[in-house]
This record gives sequence, structure tokens and C-alpha cells, in this order.
Amino acid sequence: MEKLQAIRGMNDILPENSLSWQYLESAFQRVIKRFGYQEIRFPVLEHTQLFKRSIGEVTDIVEKEMYSFDDRNGDNLSLRPEGTAGCVRAADQHGLLYNQQQRFWYQGPMFRHERPQKGRYRQFHQFGVEAFGMPGPDIDAEVLQIAAMLWQELDLSDFLTLELNNIGSAEDRANFGSALTEFLQSKEDQLDEDARNRMHTNPMRVLDSKNPDVQAALIDVPLLEDFVSAESKQHYAELQDLLNSASIDFIENPRLVRGLDYYNNCVFEWTTDTLGAQGAVCGGGRYDGLVAQLGGRDVLACGFAIGVERLILMLDSLGKIPQDALQPIDIYVTCIGQNVTKQTLDLAQAIRESQPQLGVISHCGGGKFNSQLKRAFNSGAKIAVILERDGDGESTLETAKIRRLDDSAETASHKIAVIPQKVAEFLEKSES
Ligand code: ATP
Ligand code: MG
Repeated sequence: MEKLQAIRGMNDILPENSLSWQYLESAFQRVIKRFGYQEIRFPVLEHTQLFKRSIGEVTDIVEKEMYSFDDRNGDNLSLRPEGTAGCVRAADQHGLLYNQQQRFWYQGPMFRHERPQKGRYRQFHQFGVEAFGMPGPDIDAEVLQIAAMLWQELDLSDFLTLELNNIGSAEDRANFGSALTEFLQSKEDQLDEDARNRMHTNPMRVLDSKNPDVQAALIDVPLLEDFVSAESKQHYAELQDLLNSASIDFIENPRLVRGLDYYNNCVFEWTTDTLGAQGAVCGGGRYDGLVAQLGGRDVLACGFAIGVERLILMLDSLGKIPQDALQPIDIYVTCIGQNVTKQTLDLAQAIRESQPQLGVISHCGGGKFNSQLKRAFNSGAKIAVILERDGDGESTLETAKIRRLDDSAETASHKIAVIPQKVAEFLEKSES
């Protein structure tokens, strides 16, 4: 029978890779805890309407990338393409945004039907933070501090650049949009069909057109920066000031626009040139209008999302994952001789109880000593504990050997009762 394969662009994370994931997840959780953010979890499926109303009907994500379907009741649902919409929906539904400040984080899989390639998948994972009820720019600086501290923790700071832009308030953007539509109408005969369709629905997207004829028509196009209000400029200048005093380097990128409609004022991306075309590892900004747009109160907000796969690719290619984090277990307990199953299990358990920081595999399934030792090597353990039985197979087990599972093959023999203590010392000695 033909074997079934995973869906294209949806990856299995195998045990050898999951150690890198765990390393990254624990770094993120350590950092986020230092900032006092609380975890929020929300479903991977939501009403399609939620994403249309937040991300925007005329965006790549909603038009081309969502996994949407009618369920058995005929409700139109979508797998979440990002986390912010679901986070806002959940927080507002449970009254967490009513006259309150909140700092949340989340992590989990997101789904976008894009062309799979390195760093771009159909199921991918994000860590995100969302902060509600604060006008900024202090909170904007804080979320950037979180990302910067994570890069530090991962030793990636040298490989990431923060790009900033001010895309103006919702009102500024509306004014710009009208001016843009007017301009595009005057050039209608030079636009392609796509641009003509978008000219009314989302004129800003015409600016990204890949068609050289359309680009040629855009020579004297109005500039967003001429529509950005003084207030918004002030906010942006203050944020830059805060970043400077926090020693967070950035560059300004006036071309930085985000692919989601809900952003306003300061938007940002952390990018790297170590990943080729998929260089964005974190994107975010303010989205002050979103909560109200989804039916809640006027709640100011900002946040970001990090692409986990891209960070893992960076960590792997730059060799930034410490060897220790990639160690699956510490000890493999083997036994020589007959009828020692019980003692093997007992000794492994005694080590676990007395040294809870260590991972211990107890050999199962019998077999010759050499084949057991081979399994010990293959397990990735640092040392083997070898229970030995005297030749006649009758006498009780008194001692066990500790053997380093590397080229040194260094060994030591001890009474079984002290083995749990001795393995810890043996391992410590090798680390110092
Ligand atoms: P890109 O420009 O690369 O398509 P994006 O602007 O669509 O990114 P966001 O919506 O800002 O991405 O999502 C935040 C982060 O999630 C990105 O910076 C990236 O690291 C990651 N990401 C987005 N889409 C994918 C994907 N299809 N596969 C893997 N990671 C992704
Ligand atoms: Mg994208």
C-alpha cells in the first residue's frame, strides 16, 4: 500500500531537532518572565470573519494564504495565519481589556498557504507578545527590549538589525489613502487590472506592485510621510530617543510596510542577512484601532511576532546552540549477567531519585554486553553505569562501574549504594 506523506510545507519536528526547539522555547520563556508577561492560549481555528476584519480583506494573507473551509455546520472557519487577531478576540471576550493594562505572550503554530521554501512553510510557529492599554512610546520600547534581550540570550545580536518606520495614525493613513486613490485614478490608463482593482479597496498595496509599467506610473506618487501628523511624528521621535538610551540600535526604513492592515504609527522588523531571501525573523508594531475594529472598546495596543523556524535556522547555521542543550540524556544503565533486571531498574530509579537533574535510561530487552554498550553510545548519554554480576551468576551484586562514553573510556568502580552520588560527581568533574 502507498504510504501517506505529511502535507507539503508542514514539517515534522523529529527528536534530534526538538532539542533545538526546546532550547529556544526555554530561552524565550526565561526572557518573557523577566518582563512580567503572562501566557495566553487560544484556539488554532477561528471564524474566518475574525481574520478578515482584523488583517484586512484585501491583503495577501486573507486573499491568498488562509486555510479556510466550511465545517459540518456550515460555519466558515480558518486556521489562524497569525496570533494577534485571536489574542485580541480571546482577551476581549473574557473582559481582560476593559480599563486594564495587560501584557501577554503566546506561542504556537500558524498556517499560511504559501510556496514552501527555506524559512517559509505552510505550518510554522511564532512566539508573540501583545501589550494592551498603554499609549506608548514606553511600551513600544519595552516590547523591543524583549526581542533585543532574547537575541542577547541567544548570542544572535550581531546578526540582527532592527528596522523602524512610522506609518502614521489611522487618520493619517486614511487621508493618504484618499490622496493615493485620487492620484491612481488620474493614471488609470497606465495601471494593470490588479492595480485598478486595488486602487479603491486598498490603494497602498498598489505601491508594492511588481509590474514595471505600474511602477513607472508611480513616479510622482504622494508620499505617506507628507500625511503623517505632528503627533505621530512626536511619538516616533520619542521612541527613537528611548531606544537610544536603552542602547538598542536601529535603522529607519521608510519602505517598511507590514502586510497586515491593523498596524499604525511605529512598525518594525528585525531582519538578518544570514537566511537568504527569508530575512525577517520578527515583525510588529502598534495596532491601536484593532480592538475597537473587532467590536471592543478603544484599547491601545502593540506587539510583535517572532518566526520560530527562522530563528532555529539561524541558531543552527551559526552554531549557536550549546552542546549541553543538545544532550538528550546523561546516563545509560546496563547490566552484565543473568537475572539482573530487577537490580538494573532499581539502580536507575535510585539515581533518578537522588539526582533529579539527570536523565537516566535503564537498558531494556537484555542482550549481550557489547550490544548494550553500543546502545549506550547511540543514546547520546555521557556515561554508562555497568552493573556487574560475579561469574557464577549467583552472588549478589555489590559494585557497579561508571564508564565515560567517549574516547577516554575512563572508568571507576563503586559500591552500588553510593553510585547515585558518584555518577553526579563523575559528571561534575567532566564539566569543570
Ligand atoms: P514575510 O515578509 O517573510 O512573508 P511576514 O511579514 O508575512 O513575513 P509576519 O506576518 O510579520 O510575516 O509574521 C512574523 C514572523 O513570522 C515573520 O517575521 C517570519 O519570521 C515568520 N513567518 C511569517 N510567515 C512565515 C512562513 N510562511 N513560514 C515561516 N515563518 C514565517
Ligand atoms: Mg508573508
